[in-house]
Amino acid sequence: MTRELFREDSYLKTCVANITAITETGVQTDQSVFYPLGGGQLGDTGWLVTADGARIDITDTVMDRDTRQHLHVIQQRTTLSVGDSVSLELDWDRRYRLMRFHSCLHMLCSLIDAPVTSGSIQVDRARLDFDLKDPIDKEPITKALNDLVERDVAMSMRWITDAELDAQPELVRTMSVQPPRNAQGTIRLVEFKGVDLQPCGGTHVASTGEIGAVRVQKIEKKGKQNRRIIVVFEE
Ligand SMILES: [Zn+2]
Repeated sequence: MTRELFREDSYLKTCVANITAITETGVQTDQSVFYPLGGGQLGDTGWLVTADGARIDITDTVMDRDTRQHLHVIQQRTTLSVGDSVSLELDWDRRYRLMRFHSCLHMLCSLIDAPVTSGSIQVDRARLDFDLKDPIDKEPITKALNDLVERDVAMSMRWITDAELDAQPELVRTMSVQPPRNAQGTIRLVEFKGVDLQPCGGTHVASTGEIGAVRVQKIEKKGKQNRRIIVVFEE
């Protein structure tokens, strides 16, 4: 499996890696800073830089759920070989927006007392769907989100075992997305102290101040018992 450097440190922008496999759609490596599509968060993009300096576009990152190998999707033809040492460089501006949005959704989750049915983190907006019958207003949620940003609440991570999580099922807020369990039988908890604590494999900012000013753009009724809250950056 690919060593997931971004799980320990989401601020790593580049790493050296060895190619372990080349498929029709891309390149697998022994380790990576690229987050693979999952948990509602888009896969990372960026560049693979060869030993002789050629920059090859990585247009997406996906994970094979069985082997836990990450595939860096490459569209162009290359002369890469298994065993080559390459550099992987993130499109950091794009990834940082995804990090800010992901942390913002955890803030949103903390404000709405209802189960989350699905979520999506894009480059220009993020949304959560809640299993919620009653209508809600945009303005108070926008205000509460910005209050949490203003408070600059620090994020911390820790790892627990599958058994510990199974003993506390209330930690799992998202009905449709189960937290990623790894081969070691551990799960990462992401905590914004006093605000939100949940298992999550995504990439987060170090404290909520980095999210910046946000706005609830829209609240849509999706089905008879589902509210979709869409958040954008105020920029
Ligand atoms: Zn999350």
